Amino acid sequence: PPARLRVCLDGRGYDILVGEGLLARAGGRIAPVLPARRVAVVTDTAVAALHLPALREGLAEAGIAVAAEIAVPPGEASKDFARLQSVLERLLAAGVDRRTAVVALGGGVVGDLAGFAAAVALRGLPFVQVPTTLLAQVDSSVGGKTGVNLAAGKNLVGAFHQPRIVLADIGTLATLPPRELRAGYAEVAKHGLLQGPLWEWCEAHGAAVIAGDRAAQAHAVLESCRLKAAVVAADEREESAEGGRALLNLGHTFGHALEAECGYDGTLLHGEAVAVGLGRAPPRGGRRRPSARGRPGRVIEHLRACGLPARLADLPRRFSAAALLARMAKDKKVRDGRLRFVLLRRPGDAFTAADVPREAVEALLRE
Ligand code: NAD
Ligand code: ZN
Repeated sequence: PPARLRVCLDGRGYDILVGEGLLARAGGRIAPVLPARRVAVVTDTAVAALHLPALREGLAEAGIAVAAEIAVPPGEASKDFARLQSVLERLLAAGVDRRTAVVALGGGVVGDLAGFAAAVALRGLPFVQVPTTLLAQVDSSVGGKTGVNLAAGKNLVGAFHQPRIVLADIGTLATLPPRELRAGYAEVAKHGLLQGPLWEWCEAHGAAVIAGDRAAQAHAVLESCRLKAAVVAADEREESAEGGRALLNLGHTFGHALEAECGYDGTLLHGEAVAVGLGRAPPRGGRRRPSARGRPGRVIEHLRACGLPARLADLPRRFSAAALLARMAKDKKVRDGRLRFVLLRRPGDAFTAADVPREAVEALLRE
């Protein structure tokens, strides 16, 4: 049987199931949390070709009617207003009503787009996440953040819309391109660094996750979700500036700046940018204490061993420090013009530094 975790929210808590073969048994799992046996599936064309047949079978087995199957082109470009509108038009043309659930089958792009469509169609439809990338299974499918991109930046329009259930089928990871698997693993490592003991596990078993070991993958997904579920339960809407969900941004201030500099052109995957951010999270107060408890040396070593870039020098192109600093100054996490970073004292002990001196960041970028 799959492992089951609960995200505890007032009145709207939900389960995360982690296991193999969940797609082909999806109907029986989701029927109990749906208002009616009717869904619309949103996916991308690449995932549809690989995994939609199993999901169809799983839904049919439980007598769940599929009002529509909507497959968008794969890739970040689908997270935009034009695609959102077309998904909404197709949902309504298929005759969905407020009792019809939207099922997102795919990676974070599909989850964010379908989740936002579910949040706004008819002022809110029930929503189910069936994540098929490691990144989506360990991160984006849990927590209720949905949305699309604007020319001004990523994820600038969206809604909190929690799913009714998350089905993380480890079997779907077998078809994921290795580079996508490694990139998703960067978020597992991040969760490990935030959680503590999970970091030790990552150092011992991260390579197995990357190599496709299903037991290791299931453990990585389960423990990542356990950490994220606890953080989300304590701070559902990211209201805390210092703790709570803000800490999930470990490695992301650098990571987002790198991604933005690349113009999201595919040079760098999100997880690859985050990996460099994890290798760079500056020590407390911006002063360098690199050898404290073997960090960040150990972080860099582990990420590299997993085939991830961990320093700017590992990336396929060079970045200007000034340009990266300018990007960071525009980050959503900047308040009153001060650079905010999530820093790590040691694995399991992260905190937000609200006013990292510009010179300290510059020094790190020059390293
Ligand atoms: P993605 O959804 O683009 O998927 C990556 C690629 O893998 C796509 O080409 C897709 O077609 C393919 N794919 C998906 N599953 C597959 C499978 N099982 N087999 C073969 N190919 C498969 O990217 P992603 O990395 O999953 O998600 C990135 C998105 O997630 C970004 O838009 C990011 O902003 C968002 N995100 C959201 C949250 C959140 O809390 N909502 C958190 C983190 C990231
Ligand atoms: Zn991330």
